[in-house]
Amino acid sequence: MGGNELKHVQNAFEANWIAPAGPHISSFEKKLSALSNSFEVAALSSGTASLHLALILLGVKKGNRVLCSSFTFSASANPIAYVGANPVFIDSDIDSWNMCPILLEKAIKGCILENEKPKAIMLVHLYGMPAKMDEIMKVATKYDIPVIEDAAEALGSTYKNKPLGTFGAFGVYSFNGNKIITTSGGGALFCKDKALVEKAKFLATQARDDKPHYEHSEIGYNYRMSNICAAIGLGQLEVLEERVIQKRAIKSFYKEQLSSVKEISFLDESEDSYSNFWLTTILLSKNSTIDREQLRLHLEKENIESRPLWKPMHLQPVFKECKSFLNGVSEDLFNRGLCLPSGTNMSIEDLKRVVSKIKELYEA
Ligand SMILES: *Cc1c(COP(=O)(O)O)cnc(C)c1O
Repeated sequence: MGGNELKHVQNAFEANWIAPAGPHISSFEKKLSALSNSFEVAALSSGTASLHLALILLGVKKGNRVLCSSFTFSASANPIAYVGANPVFIDSDIDSWNMCPILLEKAIKGCILENEKPKAIMLVHLYGMPAKMDEIMKVATKYDIPVIEDAAEALGSTYKNKPLGTFGAFGVYSFNGNKIITTSGGGALFCKDKALVEKAKFLATQARDDKPHYEHSEIGYNYRMSNICAAIGLGQLEVLEERVIQKRAIKSFYKEQLSSVKEISFLDESEDSYSNFWLTTILLSKNSTIDREQLRLHLEKENIESRPLWKPMHLQPVFKECKSFLNGVSEDLFNRGLCLPSGTNMSIEDLKRVVSKIKELYEA
């Protein structure tokens, strides 16, 4: 926590707004809007719920195809299954680790040939690193397919100075406990079109029609953010900028301190991208004598938690029947990559200890 969260929560208690409605939700939405190109914002119960509503608002239905980054957390793909649609997974490009624009076009052409033009593109900005937005949007626009940007890990990141999530039809943030800022659990859906965001809020509050009694003409969801969570979020937004600076400093520290270990490389930004470096990730070289699991277990022995990179969706048992367009990049990243401890509450001594334990293994 940053420090002022309890003050905002106290304020919410004093106003007696302990509900998925209340003044803190609108304040939180306004502040998020200011961070997102003045887009309209709906504060919701999770990032996953936000992605689900985005698909519903785009009219994605049972049997439709949705193109989705393979290299991601399962929460990007699960909502595609919630609406009964079929995910088609697209592999990564080596520069950003995000959806490869060349494979994206190949997949669209392939689907069109089978008379199954994709209904949407679920594009992820993984670990806070912007995808190649110019190239992706060029393909999406050419074939007139709407893009949902899963920026769950990428609040505070930009591409050509524009916040992520503001390029496609919809953007989504997550405020889950593990993200750069948190409301304990929560998410936001944003978009240029006010009417669509109003519709999202309507669907998120059980789709109640404008009548004195409870009248429903559509299936609704219980997806609105709680006013208490929004109060936490107001406190967290006060420290977002600081958190991004801290995360970037953690990445720079690791990169500098590990520069002597030739077997380890880092994912860097392109000229156009600015990353929040939510997590610092490393890649072991192909000819590294130590493999990713050896390094992970070595750190674990020292009570240092590191994690393999996300296991691609096309390799997940639950999605094994799905179509995919592959180039081998995400599988290779999974095999050779590791997320290093990146918490902003780590001290410089903590960071130094991680570095020395990694070096120890390579210099033994
Ligand atoms: C965390 C995350 C989500 C889901 O957000 P929740 O708020 O946890 O539902 C979706 N996509 C990615 C890439 C994430 O990291």
